[in-house]
Amino acid sequence: MATANVTKIDYYEVLTVSRDASDQELKTAYRKLAMQHHPDRNPDNPAAEEKFKECSEAYGILSDPEKRAAYDRYGHAAFQSGGPAAGNPFQGGAGGAQDLGDIFGDLFGEMFNMGGQKKSSRVQRGRDLRYDMTLEFEEAVFGREQEIKIRRAEICDDCKGSGAANGKAPITCTQCGGRGQVRYQQGFFSVARTCSVCNGTGTLVVDACKTCRGETRVQKDHTVLVKVPAGVEQDTRIRYQGEGETGKFGGPAGDLYVVLNVKAHKFFERDGDDLHCVLPISFPQAALGTELEIETLEGMATIKVPEGTQSGKEFKLRGKGVPHLNEHGKGDLIVEVRVAVPGKLTKSQRELLKQLGETMTVDNLPTSRGLFSKVKDIFS
Ligand code: ZN
Ligand code: ZN
Repeated sequence: MATANVTKIDYYEVLTVSRDASDQELKTAYRKLAMQHHPDRNPDNPAAEEKFKECSEAYGILSDPEKRAAYDRYGHAAFQSGGPAAGNPFQGGAGGAQDLGDIFGDLFGEMFNMGGQKKSSRVQRGRDLRYDMTLEFEEAVFGREQEIKIRRAEICDDCKGSGAANGKAPITCTQCGGRGQVRYQQGFFSVARTCSVCNGTGTLVVDACKTCRGETRVQKDHTVLVKVPAGVEQDTRIRYQGEGETGKFGGPAGDLYVVLNVKAHKFFERDGDDLHCVLPISFPQAALGTELEIETLEGMATIKVPEGTQSGKEFKLRGKGVPHLNEHGKGDLIVEVRVAVPGKLTKSQRELLKQLGETMTVDNLPTSRGLFSKVKDIFS
């Protein structure tokens, strides 16, 4: 029962208006929010959709004088079944959020000419398509071009997208009169539902095209040249506008999204456009200093390890990292040297180290990290 007391946000707060806001103020505020959070403008964004529903619901209540009065008096309880104001005429109203959405849809269509309901409902945008592409680590760094084959709905050539055999024009749906929707009254609301006879297309094909069965489109293979730019990362999405499915009845095509999956490198790790790796060195190398050859993504490079280098010291090779995406310049390669302590020693190594140990001792006393870097202080 943990969800029983979820607090609803005040409708006035949802619409960011004061409690004495005029109808016009409500409408203006609502219009602004609805435009901002409309699902068409925020595809795949559940948060926006939630906001959108929230402000639709709030406007549905506050734009109706009777409901607004009830809300002002009882708050959300006015619309909850079983709430303190159970038995009031608006009981169950909040459960009608879907219906409000329908009302809203009409309002929205009229007010902003969006949502498409006032246009021919036959027209449908094609679906977006997703293609997952796996790249080698180096391909993400340097870019890659590849042709991919996708299967998508395209206009049926045989009926030229009309859905009717012999190019015969479809007739207007007799059930909905071509609107694609039928309306009926449900409580306070006039509810629109997709016409079941024509499936919302508003038309009926008397003699359906045999190739597409009146669907207007058929599945076809299509080739797209994907150009992965240098510097992409895991989950980068490349959008190809209009390369998704063809729309229905002249509707716009959807988009194609190529979503990238980048394989790991055997030793480089990415941090943005910088590359990191760890290079083991021996204690003599660290103490005496040395020059090391290291493999980069673009050939070999040299690192000068100075005398007295501590384990964990980082060396930055400028410009040896990943190219900035769509920009000039590159990140750096950061090499961390770590002194490797041998797990096994030969007899002579052990002897030599013992001798060394007698001449070189460290004060085994706790010290702060900052002081530890001033190494000369800890050697006695
Ligand atoms: Zn056809
Ligand atoms: Zn119909």
